[in-house]
Amino acid sequence: MRKLTSLLAVWMLTGLIAPAMAGKTQNVVLIVSDGLRWQEMFQGADPLLLDAKNGGNWVAEAELKKRYWRATPQARRDVIFPFIWGTVARQGQIFGNRNEGSDAHVTNGKAFSYPGYNEMSVGYPNPAIDSNEFGPNPNPSVFEWLNGSPELQGHVAIYGTWQAYYDIFNQKRSHLVIQAGWTAPPRSGDVSKDALFARLYATTTRFDEEDVSNSFLQVELLDYVRTAKPRVLFVGYGETDNWAHQGRYDLVLESAQRTDAAIEELWETMQAMPQYRGTTTFIITADHGRGSGPVEWKEHGVDEKGSENVWIAVMGPDTAPLGERKHVEAVTQSQIAATIAALLGKDYVKDVPKAARPIKDVMGK
Ligand SMILES: [Zn+2]
Repeated sequence: MRKLTSLLAVWMLTGLIAPAMAGKTQNVVLIVSDGLRWQEMFQGADPLLLDAKNGGNWVAEAELKKRYWRATPQARRDVIFPFIWGTVARQGQIFGNRNEGSDAHVTNGKAFSYPGYNEMSVGYPNPAIDSNEFGPNPNPSVFEWLNGSPELQGHVAIYGTWQAYYDIFNQKRSHLVIQAGWTAPPRSGDVSKDALFARLYATTTRFDEEDVSNSFLQVELLDYVRTAKPRVLFVGYGETDNWAHQGRYDLVLESAQRTDAAIEELWETMQAMPQYRGTTTFIITADHGRGSGPVEWKEHGVDEKGSENVWIAVMGPDTAPLGERKHVEAVTQSQIAATIAALLGKDYVKDVPKAARPIKDVMGK
């Protein structure tokens, strides 16, 4: 890494630096909404699932339709994702609408969480990772790699609802800042806030032993961004996957809508800070897709056809505002790692040749 940095300095001094290496991006945030399907992202609510029978909804059908049903796919998706469609897709790009000739997919052949988070953060799949309980990841992620560079060391952090991130990003080896699952957050210094938070952690009935609510994570995340000002950040929101596994389509839609709002809140918080304004790129994606039809939408993996299909959105100062991409070359989850590095002017593939190349369309505005 030191070698790369000094080489960069030489290139800069001699004016030989490539345009893609001289971007405006100083900060990158990778955000994942776990298992959120491309179908909802591009078409909005699925008419097949807006009843109690297939969708398992507790909210009455008429009320659900009032909330989420509109005449066109564009209007339906705008209701659930006002920030992604109103801001990200206008100022940036979004890949993965298979109905419009844009394919985004995972290459790990598994289509569940750990293999997906490994692929996007390491840059290539590892066939040995065949369980979410795999344990510490033997492959260093791009976050660990970036944290090894002198200017980024200590400015890279992982915030996510899922306990498994401690293993996926191998905290023991990587020494990354990781806040995940039901692990009590560090004290903020605000005594009454810390007491309230400790009480909520101790007394809340856990939907899942391994996954804290998105709303809890969001409070900690915003505090961390305001005080520690990380330059490279991973954010993992788990609720969209959890509610689908429960077979509650009404709550899948609600949590998708709330996740969109949380991403907007993070964007607005960061844009209001001088360190981030105009120099921050967001990459937003899902770790896997899911099945389709009246039953298979609940699950994902090799048995549920189509679970390999995802979506990838990018917005930032180096990304041309090409909007919803149509009839373009396929992009893969494995390209995300090198894309994060390239946006920061770093050549990850040179160090990690097995990693997929960056998504070139989102760079060099
Ligand atoms: Zn899942």
